[in-house]
Amino acid sequence: MKKVIFITFLVWMGCKEAPSADPTFGIVIHGGAGTILRKNMTAEKEAEYRSVLAEAIQVGHAILKAGGSSKEAVEKTIHVMEDSPLFNAGRGAVLTADASIELDASFMDGATLDAGAISGVKTIKHPISAAIKVMEDSPHVMLSGAGADRFAVEQGLETVEPEYFITERRVNALKRVQDAQKPQKTSWSPTEKEFLQQQRYGTVGCVALDLSGNLAAGTSTGGMTNKNWNRIGDAPIIGAGTYANNATCAISATGWGEYFIRSVVAHDISALMEYKGMPIQEAAYEVIHNKVAKLGGDGGVVGIDKKGNVMMEMNTPGMYRAHMDSEGKLTVKIYKDE
Ligand code: ASP
Repeated sequence: MKKVIFITFLVWMGCKEAPSADPTFGIVIHGGAGTILRKNMTAEKEAEYRSVLAEAIQVGHAILKAGGSSKEAVEKTIHVMEDSPLFNAGRGAVLTADASIELDASFMDGATLDAGAISGVKTIKHPISAAIKVMEDSPHVMLSGAGADRFAVEQGLETVEPEYFITERRVNALKRVQDAQKPQKTSWSPTEKEFLQQQRYGTVGCVALDLSGNLAAGTSTGGMTNKNWNRIGDAPIIGAGTYANNATCAISATGWGEYFIRSVVAHDISALMEYKGMPIQEAAYEVIHNKVAKLGGDGGVVGIDKKGNVMMEMNTPGMYRAHMDSEGKLTVKIYKDE
């Protein structure tokens, strides 16, 4: 009898889904999508962007390679981009209509479907960490404004004077946007139009798959230049700018936030995978080109699925983006046609 039980046990073990023989990991980032054109880029600027993207992704990759969590990889990778004045997140974020700073960020854990977000904060050095704290140490998913800044202080997160975030480049950009958007102005030169388009974007985001099979996604932004009335975009909205689910994928978006909220971009990609069985690339193409674009919006997304397949899709001329696989192969791209 004992023998029968033992054999039954062995058969049962054999039928059970075997743990993945070849665990993999991967990480993908973006530094914003938009009208990024070769003719407006100097060789030095381009090299600077590529170098910060590479630096950021290597931080997350090292964490994943050492067996660290996708959450930590996403957080620490985004810190590098929040610290860089090149991107519209943390230091170097775009300015509001009254020349101040209002930062948004969100994070989602694909294993638990836990999520956290903050919006309109002014003093938190690393907004992505505040979003993670909201997820882990508050009973809520989203905090905003002064309350969110206060929460970060209570949690012991690093805070800075609002001036820390403000760069000359963004002060000049705000002046140009405000001049171009004066109510009495009714026509714009092609250069002005291009400039206005360029000012809209620059959010940063990161998605990662760790060796335990857990997915995570995070997004951090200053929003849109000259935003008013405490405008909030898609970046801090779970399901629009950020989504992660171990059953499908992790997604971070960048683009014209109003359209990304209306299209529920990040969750929509996951839903197409979950309910229609679409591969990540196809799902992202469908949402960006057949949904967002048809409404009149533009932008891009990066994503990774539970098997480590990577996606970087956009309907803009460019998106700062990078990917690193478990072998350490690095891909850094800026223009759409690369
Ligand atoms: N999606 C962001 C927003 O609308 C902007 C960006 O991606 O750069 O706030």
